[in-house]
Order: sequence, then C-alpha cells, then structure tokens
Amino acid sequence: MYKVAVFSSKKYDQQFLEQFNQGGQLDLHFFESRLSRQTVELAQGFQAVCVFVNDVVDHHVLEQLHTFGVNVVALRCAGFNNLDLKAARQFNIKICRVPEYSPEAVAEHTVGILLTLSRKFHKAYWRVRENNFALDGLMGFNLHGKTIGVIGTGKIGLATIKILLGFGCQVHCYDPYPNPDLQTLGAKYVTLDDLFSQSDIISLHCPLTPDTKHIIDSEALAKMKTGVVIINTSRGGLVDSNAIIGGLKSRKIGFLGLDVYELESELFFEDLSDDIVQDDIFTRLLTFPNVFITGHQGFFTEEALITIAQTTLDNIETLLSGKDCDNLIA
Ligand code: NAD
Repeated sequence: MYKVAVFSSKKYDQQFLEQFNQGGQLDLHFFESRLSRQTVELAQGFQAVCVFVNDVVDHHVLEQLHTFGVNVVALRCAGFNNLDLKAARQFNIKICRVPEYSPEAVAEHTVGILLTLSRKFHKAYWRVRENNFALDGLMGFNLHGKTIGVIGTGKIGLATIKILLGFGCQVHCYDPYPNPDLQTLGAKYVTLDDLFSQSDIISLHCPLTPDTKHIIDSEALAKMKTGVVIINTSRGGLVDSNAIIGGLKSRKIGFLGLDVYELESELFFEDLSDDIVQDDIFTRLLTFPNVFITGHQGFFTEEALITIAQTTLDNIETLLSGKDCDNLIA
C-alpha cells in the first residue's frame, strides 16, 4: 500500500479523502502543518505528499523530498504558483494537480462578493438583526448595464462571464489566449489598457505568474475609472496591496472584494480570533467600509470537495503505479 502524507489538512480534507479512498490503495496520513522547509522531515517514509495552496514546495523542499524517496507531489488545487517546477523536473518528482473541480464554485463566489458589495448585504444582515430597518447608507448600484472587465478567460473566467451576461452586463475580456466561443456568447476581447479604462468593475481570473504579478498596481489603477470596483478571487499576488490601499484612500477604488490576499499563508485557513494579527496591510484593508474579504473560500463547496478528493486520489494512484496521468504538470 502506498503511503501518502497529506499536508495542511483540515477536518473536511480528511473527511472527503477518506470517504473516497474506501477499499483504495492509499495509506493516508494527515498532518495539520503546512509543508515547508521546517516541516519537510515529516515526509520521511512516504511515497507521495499531498499539498494545498499555501504549502511551500520550493527547490529546498523538493530536494529533501527527493532524498526521502518521495516520487509524487499531488496538489489538491488548480493553481501551482507555490511550486518550483524546474526543481521538480531536476529531482524527478512528478507533480499533478486538480485542473478543474468546479469552476462554477469560484464563479458563484465571485458574483456573491460582487453582489455583497453592490447591495451591501453584509451591512443589511446586521442591521435587521438589531431591528434597525432604516435604509440610509444601504443604497446600492445595479449590475445590469455595467461594463465588467474580466482578466483571464479560462474555466473560472468563462463561468463568471456566463453569470454576468445573465445579469445584463457588458463583458470586456483580456487574455493572451482568447477563447473564440466567448464572442458568440456576447463578450468581447479588448486590450488590457482598454479593459482598465472602460470597466466599471474588474474581476481577476488569471493565474499568478511572473507576468501577472501585481497586474493591478498603481500604474494600472491610474488608467481606471474613478470609483472602479475590483474583485480578486484568483491569487493575492495579482494585486499590489499597497497600491490598492492608496486607491481606496483616494477613492479611486469604489469597492474592493477579495477572496485571496498576497500574504494569506500567514492568516487564512486558521482561527486567529484570539491572536493579534501582525499584518498591518491586511488589518488596514479591513478598516475600509467599502472592502469585503473572504478567506480563500471560493473553492469551498461540497461538489468541489468531492471532485478534488476523487481526482487527487486518482492522480496519486495513477502516478505511483507508473501509469500516465492527464493531470501531470511536471
Ligand atoms: P485556467 O487555466 O482555466 O484559466 C486561466 C486563464 O488565464 C487562461 O485562459 C490563461 O490564458 C489566462 N492567462 C494567463 N496569463 C494571463 C495574463 N497575463 N493575462 C490575462 N489572462 C492570462 O484557470 P482557472 O481554473 O480558470 O483558474 C484561474 C485561477 O483561479 C487559478 O490560477 C487560481 O489562481 C484561481 N483559483 C482560485 C480559487 C479560490 O478558491 N479562490 C479556486 C480555484 C482557482
């Protein structure tokens, strides 16, 4: 039986992975710790490790995994910006991921954040619980008729666009690899500069790469409409948080919705309610009345977790038994 060390594991990871491993080949061991240089020793004696978005799989960690005889690193997510692919090839470690588990889960969360900001649901919820039925301060804005700029038109971008077209939005997109089907749906491709200058709302759905790091910075903000709404459910590093804070203070940004944050690995997925958060940028973001943040929750639906568990187990079994795996990235 193959031994697999599952890092950054939560109760729900354990529940779904065990449920779909019944009668399976894998001997799963769950570690709450993130994989990092400090914790890599835990992987001794395993053939595979399974990691999530904030585990650190850099050159040093891969070198250590190689010396321990770990042959497979299985990501139970789609993005792989936390991984040194070159080092994985160098140490002959196979890397697989779950390329598509439920684009709709993230798309629906994106639109949920947008509607929360546009109709102030987060404020209305508390008001009504306190028997305060006054509407002052709750005035919103329609999405119907607004121009929405979508950066990245892959699986999640496309699912988001379909919902937004249903709301009656004009959708302008930017992607270096355009999807021809999108035009027939009613969206149109524009240059990135035109997307910045024409959009009332901008939603990010591209991966984090050296090209896209800080794609929203002060230079990009300068090109945008005053009062622009920015939504990022993709990866925190796509936006320059300091520039965003400047944009919020000057009111260039009308509303900001985030499900991801550049330094989220120190915060997200943990209960820190009794701690003193040391990240002054994050705490500053929380002080703005027009900012709404969720803690990397876009993927978190039952349907998505089932697919993540099934695909991850299948990827590991396939690779450890020496077969070809469609979800191999290195
Ligand atoms: P995908 O690979 O299907 O699509 C990504 C798209 O981005 C592709 O069409 C690609 O051509 C495009 N792209 C690449 N470079 C670009 C650039 N410089 N500018 C604009 N577009 C560019 O990926 P996906 O499944 O749609 O996921 C998108 C991202 O969403 C992932 O990379 C991940 O970071 C994020 N994600 C977040 C959550 C969450 O829980 N919040 C869950 C899953 C994925």
